[in-house]
Amino acid sequence: MKIYNFNAGPSMLPREVVEQTAAAVLDYNGMGLSLMELSHRSPEFKPILDEARLLLKELLDVPRGYEVLFLGGGASMHFCMVPYNLLNGKAAYLNTGTWASKAIKEAKLFGEVVEVATSADKAFSYIPKEFTVPVDASYLHITSNNTIYGTQMRYDLDSPIPLVADMSSDILSRPVDVSKYNCIYGGAQKNLAQSGLSFVIVKESALGKVERDIPSILDYRVHIANGSMFNTPPTLPVFTALRNLRWVKQQGGVKEMERRAAERAEVLYEEIDGNPLFVGTAACEDRSFMNIDFIMAPGYEPLESDFVSFAAERGIVAIKGHRSVGGFRASCYNAMPLEGAKALAVCMRDFKKKIKG
Ligand SMILES: *Cc1c(COP(=O)(O)O)cnc(C)c1O
Repeated sequence: MKIYNFNAGPSMLPREVVEQTAAAVLDYNGMGLSLMELSHRSPEFKPILDEARLLLKELLDVPRGYEVLFLGGGASMHFCMVPYNLLNGKAAYLNTGTWASKAIKEAKLFGEVVEVATSADKAFSYIPKEFTVPVDASYLHITSNNTIYGTQMRYDLDSPIPLVADMSSDILSRPVDVSKYNCIYGGAQKNLAQSGLSFVIVKESALGKVERDIPSILDYRVHIANGSMFNTPPTLPVFTALRNLRWVKQQGGVKEMERRAAERAEVLYEEIDGNPLFVGTAACEDRSFMNIDFIMAPGYEPLESDFVSFAAERGIVAIKGHRSVGGFRASCYNAMPLEGAKALAVCMRDFKKKIKG
């Protein structure tokens, strides 16, 4: 039976990328050695890291003056590194969910944090649109895709000050105007590679403006000066990231990824809106193309676990919603084929037939 993996992260990767990683673990390039056994300073690994950094720049059309880093740790590490390196006195944060709240908590250790708006009043089911940005703040931090709540800013916000974005769960899913951002970061395990790796795109001229001393390992400038090799990077995840970046390029780049994401999302939201057993949880205009959240319609709540089993019998796995939202979440990152979205939609329709005839 074909399995459709809707995990939110770590999540599905293109099969060929998984296979290439598996092969490199056993025998890298016919050397008789595992890639895991090679020095990060070896002539074999260095080109992998360099090409991955270049390819991320190419795919996102990153302007001059920006550097790409691949570091250990996850997005959560950058909740601390971003203010450490960029917060000079005051920073503005848009609170759109759990991850944004965690970023805010860390930033408060480094200065004044202005929460410009929050959607906590409606369980983070929408993206606030009306708010004032303090022009004397160092940056406005946003979470472009709220993995847990299924909301997304599929646009580059107009802001009077530079943006900083946590793009953990929608990097490479659409073109981005990088020039609006001083920093874009995220964990790799949603749409780039396996866990253990994070990515950063940072504007060099935005660095070096804070007074505080920064420990070397947390200083973006130190990592830039060392070509993302200040310490040992997670070599295998960097290899997987490279193969996935090559895959994205070969498939047609981020514009094509965006087209596919829209197509998958339309199939699923159409079913959610037309099926009396289910309702979507996110405000329609803010619905994420990456994480599609829905719950049982009022009156059908007791059928939740039945639907999870019904789907699993059809090879549709990992659709349970985040523990803080409940219901279901179908995560559809770049690697999810359209047929996966269609299989889930058909499954929802069949479940309705089973329950209501
Ligand atoms: C998963 C996720 C995180 C947390 O990432 P870690 O790598 O576990 O620190 C942060 N932000 C967003 C938007 C996420 O989806």
